[in-house]
Amino acid sequence: LPTVAVVGAPNVGKSSFVNRVVGRRSSVVSDEPGTTRDRGYSEAEWAGREFTLVDTGGMEPSATTGLQALVTLQAKVAVEEADVIVHMVDSRLGPTEADAAIARELLASGAKVVLAVNKLDNPADDTERYAFYALGEGEPHAISAIHGLGTGDLLDRIVALLPEEQEEAEGEPLPTLAIVGRPNAGKSTLMNALVGSERAVVSEMPGTTTDAVEHVVRVEDAGEERLFTLLDTAGVSRGARRSVGVPYYSTLRTSQAIRRADVSLLLLDAVEGLTGADLRLAREIEESGRSCGVILNKSDLVDAERIRELEEEVTYRMSDLEPPFISISALTGRGVERVLPFAARIERAYGLKLPTHEIAEFVNDLVARSAPAKGVRIRYATQTGTRPPRFTVFANRPKDVREGYIRYLANAIRRKYDLYGVSVAVRVKSSHR
Ligand code: GDP
Repeated sequence: LPTVAVVGAPNVGKSSFVNRVVGRRSSVVSDEPGTTRDRGYSEAEWAGREFTLVDTGGMEPSATTGLQALVTLQAKVAVEEADVIVHMVDSRLGPTEADAAIARELLASGAKVVLAVNKLDNPADDTERYAFYALGEGEPHAISAIHGLGTGDLLDRIVALLPEEQEEAEGEPLPTLAIVGRPNAGKSTLMNALVGSERAVVSEMPGTTTDAVEHVVRVEDAGEERLFTLLDTAGVSRGARRSVGVPYYSTLRTSQAIRRADVSLLLLDAVEGLTGADLRLAREIEESGRSCGVILNKSDLVDAERIRELEEEVTYRMSDLEPPFISISALTGRGVERVLPFAARIERAYGLKLPTHEIAEFVNDLVARSAPAKGVRIRYATQTGTRPPRFTVFANRPKDVREGYIRYLANAIRRKYDLYGVSVAVRVKSSHR
C-alpha cells in the first residue's frame, strides 16, 4: 500500500487527524488513564484508495532532544517511508520555528507535501491560513481535525498525490542483498557460484549509484518466489585492486553497499577466523540499521570442530545483532544453494510488521516476568516502524528504564519473532502527554 505520513510539531493535532481518518477502525488499546492510544501505522481509505497512514508523533525521540531536532527527525523518517507527507501546523501559533525547520527538511528532500493548517474550528477564520504560505509548501489547507472541517478536501488532495495504482508494484524497488567481506574471503568465488548459473539470474545491469554490478536473482522463500537485487561488490574490488588508492575505494564501496543493502552477508574466511576487519564490517552493518547474516567460507579447509568454534565466537562477539550463521565452500559448491534462501529469510524478518496487540501483549508478559525497577511501570508497547523493526514502549518514568532493561526487551523480541541478524530498536517514551 502507498504510505501517507503525518508530521508536525508536538500538539498540532496529528493524532486527532489520524484518528478521524482511521475512524472506528482505530482501537483504543486500554482505558487506563495515562495509556497512550495506539500510534504508528493504521490502514485508511478515502475515495476508493487504500493507504497506510503513519502518525509520526509516535516516533518522537526522548524529551531531552531539542524540539527542532525532534521535528526534523520526524520529517526525515517520513521522507524515508512515505509517498505523501502531510505537514500539520497549528493555526493559532502562526508559523513557528519548528514548523519552518520541518518545512526546510521536507522541501530539501523533494517529497510530495500537503500543508494542513489545523484548529481552524471556525470557518470565519479561514484567512488565517494565508500566513502559512511563508513555509513555501504551497497552498495551506484549512482544517479542524476535531470537528472534521476541511478534512475531506485535504484527503482528496492527498489521494490525488498518491502514486498510480499500477506504478506501485513496478516502482517498488527490490530488496537488496550484498556480499561483503575482507579481501580474499571468497566474495568473487561465491558471486560466480551464485550468478554463474543462468538459472538464478534474471537480468544483469551496471549499477547506477555505485560502480558495482547488480544482478536480479530469483529466490524461493517460504513457498514463494521472490526477486532480489544482488550487489556485486566483488567485481568492484577486483577492478579496484588494479588501480591506485585501492584500500580507500574498496572500503568506500563496501560501505556504500552496506548502506544500500537490506541484508549484508558477511563472508568470513574459515582459515583466518574472525578478524578485527570482520568485526569492523559487522559494526558498520549494525550502525546502518540494516540486517546481517554470517557465512563462513572455505569450510573445505577446516574441520567441523573449527566451524563450531567460529560459530560460537560469532555469537559471542556479535551479540548486538545475533546474526544467523551458515558455513559453505564457495570453491566446491557445498552449501552455496543455501546462501540466497538464507538471505531471503533474514530480509523477511527485517520487514516484519506485527499486529499491534501481539507486541503489546508480548511486552506485557515480559514486564510481568521482570519489571524495569521499583515504581517504574511500562504501560504499553507498539511497533513504530519496520525495515528495521522499531518498537516504542511507554513508561510512567522513562528515564528510570535502564539500558540493560531495554536490551532485555530487544533481545526477547528478537528471539520470539526470529529477528536474528536484524537490529531491533526499542525506544522508551513517557506515557504522560
Ligand atoms: P575476494 O577477494 O573476497 O573476492 O576473494 P576471491 O573470491 O578472489 O577468493 C580468494 C581466494 O580464495 C581465491 O584463491 C579462491 O580460489 C579462494 N577461495 C574462495 N572460496 C574458497 C573456498 O570455499 N575454499 C577454498 N579452499 N578456497 C576458496
